[in-house]
Amino acid sequence: MRSSADAVIIGGGIIGTAAAFYLARENYGRIILLEKEKFLGFGSTSKAAGGIRAQFHNRVNIEMSMLSEKIFRNFKEETGSDAFYDQVGYMFLLSEAEDIKTFKKSYELQRSLGLNVELLKQDEISQYAPHVRIDDIELATFCSDDGLADPHEFLSGYDQAARRLGVEIELETEVTAIETEAGKIKTVKTSKGDISTPLVLNCAGAFGGLIGQMVGGDVRVIPVRRQCVTTGELDFITPTLPMVVDVKSGLYCHKESRGMLLGWADKAVESNFDISVDPDYTDSILELALDRMPQLETAEIANSWAGLYETTPDHRAIIGWEPKVEGMFHITGFSGHGMMHAPAAGLVATEIITGRQPSIDIKELRPDRFENGILVEETNVI
Ligand SMILES: Cc1cc2nc3c(=O)[nH]c(=O)nc-3n(C[C@H](O)[C@H](O)[C@H](O)COP(=O)(O)OP(=O)(O)OC[C@H]3O[C@@H](n4cnc5c(N)ncnc54)[C@H](O)[C@@H]3O)c2cc1C
Repeated sequence: MRSSADAVIIGGGIIGTAAAFYLARENYGRIILLEKEKFLGFGSTSKAAGGIRAQFHNRVNIEMSMLSEKIFRNFKEETGSDAFYDQVGYMFLLSEAEDIKTFKKSYELQRSLGLNVELLKQDEISQYAPHVRIDDIELATFCSDDGLADPHEFLSGYDQAARRLGVEIELETEVTAIETEAGKIKTVKTSKGDISTPLVLNCAGAFGGLIGQMVGGDVRVIPVRRQCVTTGELDFITPTLPMVVDVKSGLYCHKESRGMLLGWADKAVESNFDISVDPDYTDSILELALDRMPQLETAEIANSWAGLYETTPDHRAIIGWEPKVEGMFHITGFSGHGMMHAPAAGLVATEIITGRQPSIDIKELRPDRFENGILVEETNVI
């Protein structure tokens, strides 16, 4: 491993690889990406359910997704690699008066930002998702630009493109400390030696808070376990089935191979780095799924897994310069939306680092925004 670099990226998930690609595309110089595991994407990226949507309640999240969706659609032109963005759409099912009010307000905001989102009445829902029980559903929102993707395909596209541009990727290399001098980044210490550098990108996902602590920063990323379950083959799965989110329960589901992927955020889970599968959590997902899709009664479970959401207090990413140390840039805390926001995050971070006008105004995502409490919150979180 080299002992100096113009930039060191910590973390080889979708965010780190995207950032590596965009920074290298700007000829940033010698870039080294460090990943502590044996493979890239071994962290939360490999656990993602593959959902991509721009239907958020918050302006910055909508714009991050809209920019990312554009890049996902044109990924081959962007990186030279094939990766399939399956635009089957996302549907949010609404049964509670309060949710209907909130989603209608967000619908207006989304439309004003140019998002192609629609409101569906109860009788229009079944044409998209005939397998879903709708007797208690009053309204749905649907956006056909949203959809599904395999996180690995996009990560590997960014990885290959970054390597072609000269990025050096070091696996099984754990960052153990970061040294500063006179308030500036000086050296990244790793399990395989030291690298002197003036710039560090913190792309460590759920570990982003720990990396921040290495320079005395207060990066508020809280790791929280989230689980998914997949079923065996089901006869009602069609290629056009959208992602469906039951807003009241928080259950989400989409087609996966010839079966379904089911997921749910158990808000009672305590914050820690545990990613063992909890069978009670799995049972809760199955109960909610059966209630919404009675046809699942005969379904077999194919797989289940747990991974970490990298949650922030307002459920929005942390992107920006570390205020306490010159040369430290955070791109973390995506709160369960990091795969879908990776292209925009990597691009906009690069624009800021290289002193250009960012494509999206992301000042609201600055790392020190929590000092006066939570000012704006993303509440459409699943
Ligand atoms: C069950 C589940 C479902 C999800 N579904 C979706 C979804 O549908 N859509 C979506 O957009 N997002 C989803 N997410 C969230 C998404 O997976 C994350 O937001 C995204 O993967 C974050 O990417 P990342 O690169 O920041 O983090 P990671 O992929 O975790 O990468 C960070 C990397 O940093 C490495 N690292 C940490 N510390 C160090 C160190 N000291 N030295 C070196 N390396 C280090 C880690 O090993 C890791 O590989 C889901 C997450 C989970 C758990």
